[in-house]
Amino acid sequence: MRQENLIIIGSGPAGLTAALYAARANLKPWVITGNELGGQIAITNEVENYPGFDSILGPDLTEKMRAQAEKFGTRFEYSQVTEVDFTQGSPFYLKTYNGEYQAKAVIITTGASAKRLGIPGEEEFIGRGVSYCATCDGFFFKGKDVLVVGGGDSALQEGLFLTKYATQVRIVHRRDSLRAGEFLKARANENPKIKYVWDTVLEEIKGNGVLQEVTTRNMKSGQTEKWKTDGVFVFVGHFPNTDIFKNQLAMDEQNFLITDKNMQTSVEGVFAAGEVQDPIYKQAVSSAGQGCQAAISAERWLAARGVE
Ligand code: NAP
Repeated sequence: MRQENLIIIGSGPAGLTAALYAARANLKPWVITGNELGGQIAITNEVENYPGFDSILGPDLTEKMRAQAEKFGTRFEYSQVTEVDFTQGSPFYLKTYNGEYQAKAVIITTGASAKRLGIPGEEEFIGRGVSYCATCDGFFFKGKDVLVVGGGDSALQEGLFLTKYATQVRIVHRRDSLRAGEFLKARANENPKIKYVWDTVLEEIKGNGVLQEVTTRNMKSGQTEKWKTDGVFVFVGHFPNTDIFKNQLAMDEQNFLITDKNMQTSVEGVFAAGEVQDPIYKQAVSSAGQGCQAAISAERWLAARGVE
C-alpha cells in the first residue's frame, strides 16, 4: 500500500489550488483527478469573472492551474477514488482504480455534477439530443433548434453559447422571472436568437433514434403541448459528489459535506473545499479560495503531528 502525506481528491479550481499551496509547503501532494481533469470549469467555454483574466477559456484556465501546481511538486493520478475508510482516523485508507493508499491527511474537492430532470425519455436520449454541456455538444446543433431548461446563470451563459450554432434557443423556465444575474440577463435580452418560455416545464422527451419532440406543461394553466425540437440542454443546478463519503463524513440534508471554518470535515485530518461543501457561492474563484484555505489548514494539522 502506498503511503502519502496528503491526498487531494478532485482537480477542479479547489483541488488544483489546494495542490498549489500544499506543494509550495513541500507536502508533495498526490492529486487523484477524477474522471476528467479540471471539473466543471474545464467544460465551460468563456470565463469572464476569474480575477486577473479579462476572458479565458475554461480548459486553458485548468491547464494553467495544473501546470502551476505541478511546477512546485504536485503529482497527478488520472483515476477515480472508489472507496475510502476514514473511520480509523489518520492515516486514512483510499482505494482507486490503480491501487490502495494510506494518507496522513486528505482534502476532498470532488465538486458537483449536473442534476437531471428525471422525466421519461431523458436518459434514453442522452447523447442523441439531450445534453448537460453546451461547450461539449453545441457544435452538433449547427442550424438546429434547441431548448435550454433552467433560469439560472448556467442556462443563460450556455444558452448564449448555443446561439453560435443553433438557429433558435428557447429558454424554458418553470417560473416567470430568472434567477440569473443582471449581466447575463442583459446579454441574453440583446440576442435575437434567444426566446423565453415562461412558467413551463418539460414532461417527456420523445424521438425515433434521435430526439424529435418534447411534451411541455404550463405551470399556471396546466395545459400540455407537444413541440418539435432537435435538442434539450438541461441546466437545472448541481448535486454534490459525495456518494463515496456516505456513512463516513457528516453531510447536510442536500448531501453537501459539512465543514468548519478551517475547512475541516467531521473527521479530523480530512478537509473539504469547493462545491462539494458549498451550496451557496459555487464560483471558480470561491472554490479556489476554499482550496487555499483547506491546504493551509491541512499543512498546519500535519505540522502539529510532525509531518513537514
Ligand atoms: P442554479 O443557480 O441553481 O439555477 C438552476 C435553475 O434551474 C433555476 O432557475 C431553477 O429554477 C431551475 N430548476 C431547478 N430544478 C428544476 C427542475 N427540476 N425543472 C426545471 N427547472 C429547474 O444553477 P446554475 O445556473 O447551474 O448556477 C450554479 C451556480 O454557478 C450559481 O451560483 C451561479 O451563479 C454560478 N454560475 C455563474 C456563472 C457566471 O457567473 N457567469 C455561470 C454559470 C454558473 P428556480 O429559479 O425556479 O429555482
